[in-house]
Amino acid sequence: MPVILLTNDDGIHAPGLHALEKSLADLGEVWTVAPDVERSACGRAVTLNRPLRVTKVGPRRFAVDGTPVDCVLLAFRSLMDPSPKIVVSGINRGFNVGEDLDYSGTVGAAAEAALQGAHLSVAVSTHSRANGNSLDHAGDFSQYLVKKLWAEPRLPEGSYLNVNLPTKPAHKIRWTRQGNRLGRGRVVVDKDPRGKKFYWIAERPEEGEPPPNTDRGALKDECISLSLLTLDRNWQGNWTPPAHWDNGFFEEQV
Ligand code: MN
Repeated sequence: MPVILLTNDDGIHAPGLHALEKSLADLGEVWTVAPDVERSACGRAVTLNRPLRVTKVGPRRFAVDGTPVDCVLLAFRSLMDPSPKIVVSGINRGFNVGEDLDYSGTVGAAAEAALQGAHLSVAVSTHSRANGNSLDHAGDFSQYLVKKLWAEPRLPEGSYLNVNLPTKPAHKIRWTRQGNRLGRGRVVVDKDPRGKKFYWIAERPEEGEPPPNTDRGALKDECISLSLLTLDRNWQGNWTPPAHWDNGFFEEQV
């Protein structure tokens, strides 16, 4: 039985995490290490300037006063021996698509797990109004997916999987690419009850028609979106700098 780590960015009390714990319980030795409170949109943030405190809240269940990536690091480097082979992050309340991936703590935790050497690392998200039935459905799908992906062939080394389940129960899976063209974000400016001005960063609205082979496109077509991501941030297209351009600076110094 593989050792499985569960984490999230919605916090240890989130219903999505409970759904995952319930659905994956029979697949292996399941551990949960999750933030003590909601830490959504903290990306790959690591806490370096203060000590972290861990509270044991149940058998193989730990709450950490830090970020999702802190939880993964503590699990791999201190709390769990041996380290987990499978890591599932979620089930997040709200989709993680397009540019969300850079901000998402759910996806950040899955990326960190891939970096730490998990053989299978998955981020699972669904719509923001998900509750009882839809979370159970997402949990069932997560169980199916982990079972399938734990068999051969495994995901490529250094990759991790981003899963989004649509608002309506899906009947189809689509392998997708990370999409784009979410809005550029919005800042609400107003005054608090004491008359002091505040700035509040709001959700990024969706803009444009998503191509069908993207995460947003699959969700629009009521398919479950599966995107295989990589830790490698290098530009994958063709781009060549102008000839001699890189030496110009040094030649001008002479
Ligand atoms: Mn979240």
